[in-house]
Amino acid sequence: MQRVILESPYAGGCRPDIYHTFWSDCRTVCEVQLPSGHIGRGNCETGALAAAMIARNRAYLAECLRDSLLRGEAPFASHGLYTAALDDAVPEERELGIMAGFAWGPAADKVVVYTDLGVSGGMRQGIEAALARGADVEYREIRG
Ligand SMILES: [Zn+2]
Repeated sequence: MQRVILESPYAGGCRPDIYHTFWSDCRTVCEVQLPSGHIGRGNCETGALAAAMIARNRAYLAECLRDSLLRGEAPFASHGLYTAALDDAVPEERELGIMAGFAWGPAADKVVVYTDLGVSGGMRQGIEAALARGADVEYREIRG
């Protein structure tokens, strides 16, 4: 099996169009569907809106992992693993998780970026690290 590092969003990203261009712009204009079905407005990186975005992004990560596995790959996603032990809202802990993820980079055959929900700042860091070490980067969309 080919070992792949999987990139997908973890926090935020309610608007992929803005997400793509500049991550922090998202904070002033967020509209997020909450578990209740209501639309929450505000900063999608804090409070109930952030929790809703993380839940959405985790569900998407599961779809990405499944897609990768069904292609015969062995995916690794640091944001699906280390966030169970670290607090992503604490910058030092977020950075620690990112660094630990990068440490696995050379063990992978390529990096696969799942783009249906946009490309977050964290994903961009992963892409840049992959390109810097000369790894293959493949972009995928799995939602029509
Ligand atoms: Zn937002």
